[in-house]
Amino acid sequence: MVRLHIGVIVRAMGDAVQISANGWAMIAQVRFRELKTRLGLAAFIAATASFLTGGLWPVFWLSLVGLTQLVDWLAFRPLRLHPGMEPSLAYKIGLCAVAALNVVVYSGIAAILWIAGGEAGRLFAMVQVAGGLLHVSLHMHHVRPLLFSAVIPHSLYFLGMPITESLVSGTWQDFLIAIGGVLFMMHLVVAVRQSSTTTKALQDANAEAQAQRQKAEVASAAKSDFLAVVSHEIRTPMNAVISAANLLRRTRLDREQREHVSMLLDAGDVLVGLLNDVLDFSKIEAGKMQLESSEMDLRDKLASLGRLWRPKAEANGVRLAIQIAPDVPDTVRTDPLRFQQMLFNLLSNAVKFTEHGSITVSVDWREADRRLIVAVADTGCGIAPDRLANIFDSFEQADAGTTRKYGGTGLGLAISRRLAEIMGGRLTAESVVGQGSTFTLNLPVELVQTTERAPKRAAADERALAGRVILAADDHAVNRRILALLLEPHECRLVLVENGAEAVEAAMTQSFDAILMDMQMPVMDGLTATARIRAEGMNRRTPVIALTANAMDVHRAAWDAEGVHAFLTKPIDPALLAATLAEACVQDVEAREAAVA
Ligand code: ADP
Repeated sequence: MVRLHIGVIVRAMGDAVQISANGWAMIAQVRFRELKTRLGLAAFIAATASFLTGGLWPVFWLSLVGLTQLVDWLAFRPLRLHPGMEPSLAYKIGLCAVAALNVVVYSGIAAILWIAGGEAGRLFAMVQVAGGLLHVSLHMHHVRPLLFSAVIPHSLYFLGMPITESLVSGTWQDFLIAIGGVLFMMHLVVAVRQSSTTTKALQDANAEAQAQRQKAEVASAAKSDFLAVVSHEIRTPMNAVISAANLLRRTRLDREQREHVSMLLDAGDVLVGLLNDVLDFSKIEAGKMQLESSEMDLRDKLASLGRLWRPKAEANGVRLAIQIAPDVPDTVRTDPLRFQQMLFNLLSNAVKFTEHGSITVSVDWREADRRLIVAVADTGCGIAPDRLANIFDSFEQADAGTTRKYGGTGLGLAISRRLAEIMGGRLTAESVVGQGSTFTLNLPVELVQTTERAPKRAAADERALAGRVILAADDHAVNRRILALLLEPHECRLVLVENGAEAVEAAMTQSFDAILMDMQMPVMDGLTATARIRAEGMNRRTPVIALTANAMDVHRAAWDAEGVHAFLTKPIDPALLAATLAEACVQDVEAREAAVA
């Protein structure tokens, strides 16, 4: 019985720790949960009483306990079902009365055992009432009226039995038992007080943690908003600067002017890279980086990275080689954008930190666990052993002079490693100062069966744009001018409008081959305009390309929901813009032909 009581007490202490705002409701839950235990205990006590005193009277007591427990169950039921309710005063008084009645009946058997159970009966009665006292004290102490309602009848039994006995018998043994009872009660008061203080402290700590979490969530949301706004505001003027530099490069320039334009474009690229890195990093930190899964032609991807970085490496007299083991599959399923981003970072570093020798990208395949092992090895300056562990931390560079000499922010490797981990892989580094570094990407990918491989869409010829009619909506005059200049060489006809409403109007009166749509515009935004164009009129099926400075994932998701053909971010990459438009126009014709057939 003592063990059973201890079990109940330990559970009650656990419950006391997670006190809800409404203590009454919580006690209702606890009482319901422990109903079976109380009934089980009562059956055990009845059996013991029957054994100690003989006769079947404990069965009568057990029935009475069953009845009072039923009343208890009914009384606390509304609170249990509606924990949010605030009990009225009358209801509270009723609950206290029920709790007191329960104790009077439940511990009543102790009084009978005290009188009729002999030495063993007295001991049993004291232990039973002490256990009950401890139990109600611990699980009801956070609602004082209920606590007193249960503790008072318990105490009357607990102290009343030995005190009356000592008065009647006048023996020093009974007197000692009464003093023991009083001492127990005093200890109990201290324990309950202590438990209340601890519970209150835990409650306060919980509330504080909750408040802090809410604050952190608000701060995180504010940070995301801030980043979205800053990103948009920086991208818009940067689009003008970079596009103007691109346009300038197409004009007749002397060598010095050409160099100046190149500087401008390089700086623009660095700024865009930085902006993307900061956005990616904050996305990863917030656990909001979402991966895509699509087919990737591995050899194609590596060849294009080679085409991008080889001229830069060779300009420094460094050879760039790409070695792909024959058993490496042609096509795999992964997130191609993130794969490219990681290798781009590794190659960018290898080119940046290698002044002579070579850079080798080697790709191997581990069939057993379907992993690509991509190693980017260079013969560059290398990294000191004590810095090697830190280079994957955010904003860490191997030494203080790096930024001065090579630029960079120290975010590239941090992002790449986190991306590799999110994708289920690993990115590690080995390096010897003066001899070079090897970065190894170990990445699980899915194999694509050759039969299920999607047919490759033929790259659209950019000349496909000649004679096409394209609608472009952008509220910035500079952006509209830039679009016109960028698309001029492609001999397409551009209809420029200033907001979504004008775009809808234009789309109602004329058929277009493709539509370029900005996101944030006065009068009507790009998303609404796209939805309207899609709803009715002759451009319902015309491919829409989002061309926007809102580069966050939420924006991309919003455009995806509208079913846009592509999502391009500003600053505009002229080649990508032309290729995407050409592809959209070709696809549009194919779709219309298919619809006719
Ligand atoms: P960033 O290149 O923008 O500084 P990274 O996170 O890409 O940031 O790299 C962190 C640091 O690691 C670099 O500043 C550089 O000191 C060191 N590092 C990275 N790659 C190499 C490499 N291939 N050779 C030598 N040092 C490297």
